[in-house]
Amino acid sequence: MLLDLHRHLEGSHSPRALLDVARAFDIRNPLFFDETKGEFRTPDQLAAQLTMQAPSDDATVFYQCILKARAAYVSVAAIGALALEAFREAAQDSDGFEMRLSLFSMARTLLENQQRAWREVPPVEFAEAHARPVLLAVLAARDQAARETGKPMLVRVGLSRTFESEPHYRALAPMICEHARALVGLDVLGIVTGPDTEPLPPGLLSVLELMRRDLPDLTIHAGEFAGHASVDRTLALAPRGIGHGVHALQSPATLERLAKEGVTLEVCPSSNHLLIPTALAKLEAAHGGATPLKALQQAQVHCVLGSDDPTPMGTSFRREVEVAREKGVDLVRLEADMARRWAQLTT
Ligand SMILES: [Zn+2]
Repeated sequence: MLLDLHRHLEGSHSPRALLDVARAFDIRNPLFFDETKGEFRTPDQLAAQLTMQAPSDDATVFYQCILKARAAYVSVAAIGALALEAFREAAQDSDGFEMRLSLFSMARTLLENQQRAWREVPPVEFAEAHARPVLLAVLAARDQAARETGKPMLVRVGLSRTFESEPHYRALAPMICEHARALVGLDVLGIVTGPDTEPLPPGLLSVLELMRRDLPDLTIHAGEFAGHASVDRTLALAPRGIGHGVHALQSPATLERLAKEGVTLEVCPSSNHLLIPTALAKLEAAHGGATPLKALQQAQVHCVLGSDDPTPMGTSFRREVEVAREKGVDLVRLEADMARRWAQLTT
């Protein structure tokens, strides 16, 4: 079973799906609609706007692609339609997968696209009148796509380390926990650039502790932009998985700890190639040219594979499997680790 175990909903809206939804909901944003020609753009034209054209250490290049795709979040129904397409496409791309959504960002963007200042929306109203319908629409889309395709699909809710408003996050927490049975766990995500900006805000940590009672499977993005100290700090929070974590390769002690504690790294080769090209070259040079996934396997660290954000990264999960194969990754071991992690998520 080839399972995509690190994939974001916001990075899984294909140009075709975005244009279908733009047409269905008449979203005449210049990104989707060419005013001068009076017609919607073609998937190829849109792809040029949504996909990174070359590797860049500047994460804002990637983030701009995500921001553009969010222009289609004009209503809960539009988000539901986009989610349905994203689940269907992910199902075609793997034998099963876990999709994570950044619920706060999606609800905030929905309000912004409706010309409303989200900070002026009281936290409980934000959670109940905006975020809950988004979550329900995504879960309904998942259920429909799972019925249609017969593929297993799990949903994880991500909280952003950028932590824009503690009161809004605190209001989201009990609402999300009410849907714990439909979810597989929590993720901490979000890009914070700059030197060593990864320690999580204390307010976010306390919200996480509260939510973990209902959603114990925690994954955290770490060791991607920042070094191995970021992985060490993250391990102190006892996550089941770490998003990326490739900088663990800088430290034999960190590798040993990951292996001993059985924490799974979710490795996304194309994502690393595009977002951290300089750091990746250094890691590979320090490990005899081995790609991080191969070097981590050699260090006995459990690793799974993810497509991360297939649209901005111009990739697919199937392609990531091929990249891993070409780079000499032990695919038997990889599949065994996928099965091991899947069992943790589903039993
Ligand atoms: Zn990610």
